[in-house]
Amino acid sequence: MIRLHPLPDARHECPHCGVALLIDGWYIPGMRNLAQLHCAGCGREFYGDLAAGQALYTPMLLEKAAGVVHDPHGVPWFADWLRDSYASRTSTPLRFEQEEVAPVTRHPLLLNCLDTLYGHCLLKLLNAQHYLNHRPDLDLIILVPSLLRWMVPAGVAQIWTIDLPLRRGLEWNDWLAREISRRVESFGGASLSVAHSHPHPDDYDIEHFTRVKPFPLDEWERRLTSPTVTFVWREDRLWPGADQTTPARFGRIFTPAETAVERQRRLVTGLAEALRTEHPTIDFAVVGLGKAAGLPAWIADMRRDELDAGTERAWCLRYADSHLVVGTHGSHMLLPSAHAGGVVELIGTQRWGNFLQDILFRTSDCREMFFRYRFVAESTTPAALAQLASSVLTGYSPFRNLMRERV
Ligand SMILES: [Zn+2]
Repeated sequence: MIRLHPLPDARHECPHCGVALLIDGWYIPGMRNLAQLHCAGCGREFYGDLAAGQALYTPMLLEKAAGVVHDPHGVPWFADWLRDSYASRTSTPLRFEQEEVAPVTRHPLLLNCLDTLYGHCLLKLLNAQHYLNHRPDLDLIILVPSLLRWMVPAGVAQIWTIDLPLRRGLEWNDWLAREISRRVESFGGASLSVAHSHPHPDDYDIEHFTRVKPFPLDEWERRLTSPTVTFVWREDRLWPGADQTTPARFGRIFTPAETAVERQRRLVTGLAEALRTEHPTIDFAVVGLGKAAGLPAWIADMRRDELDAGTERAWCLRYADSHLVVGTHGSHMLLPSAHAGGVVELIGTQRWGNFLQDILFRTSDCREMFFRYRFVAESTTPAALAQLASSVLTGYSPFRNLMRERV
């Protein structure tokens, strides 16, 4: 954690003069946690990222007058977010719900979970457990977008819920900055969580957040009376399957008249049916955002058009009942991977740079983990994917027993 109030810990240099900038205060207009700075040499004023979230690794400077972003680390997307949000800053009031769960009697620590990407918000929130477990000298205050309110763990002192949808998650909101300042200033002094982008699996327990107990690995074999597999559906990150040149033996050949979503539905149905051939008692479900329609009646279609806490929790219960979750790479795999027994992920070459960033691991023997987490090309056919999933379903317990032997 770093100091936030009254003056934050921040080290930035003037990009024009090369001297250390002087710290005037702090400013949190949304997802960005900033120091207010000025240069004693040239007099320019800046906002500089505080060391939290992505800015822990790639802090940037924003020149107040010109709106220019100085990006010494060369991360264009993070620089664009800052520049664009500042250029279109707003003061529109937001719904700001302050829940005082326990009195703040110790040093307050603010964990800012606002972001425009679902995965970033969720991963920041997982940082909470470290403080709850190891820092009894702190009172934790969680700043969270309303979509993640349901996952705030027990034990925090205050919950500040901001009604800011993901599509507005980059917003620079001066009204929000004033509200956060007013509340933090009432404490006299406060710190800010560094909000690691990828907390270590040993530092959180997903059950504290979702209140759902993950799949019991010791019951894997017993539960094979009804092998349980869940496909995690997403319509903006589709399973393309093999291309049009795919040999016919791997399934029907793609026709241009078929939309990409229809194609995914056909592929998922093919996967489910191939698995049912091998495992007649299989319990197969499809979960995720989308219209629940068009799947065979024997598949449990748990898709929804919109998300709410009840739906999210019901999905987590389904993941926790699943030997395996299957899906394409993306943040929609975070909660499924955290709760299921194992994962089979379809990943395309364009996502290799984000490998494993969407998986919340349940740690165990490294060999056993290799067995439970499988990553295959997104061009994999339903038949090949079913073969792989089937081998994990039936092979896990023998493999685990084999690997348990020690001299
Ligand atoms: Zn200067």
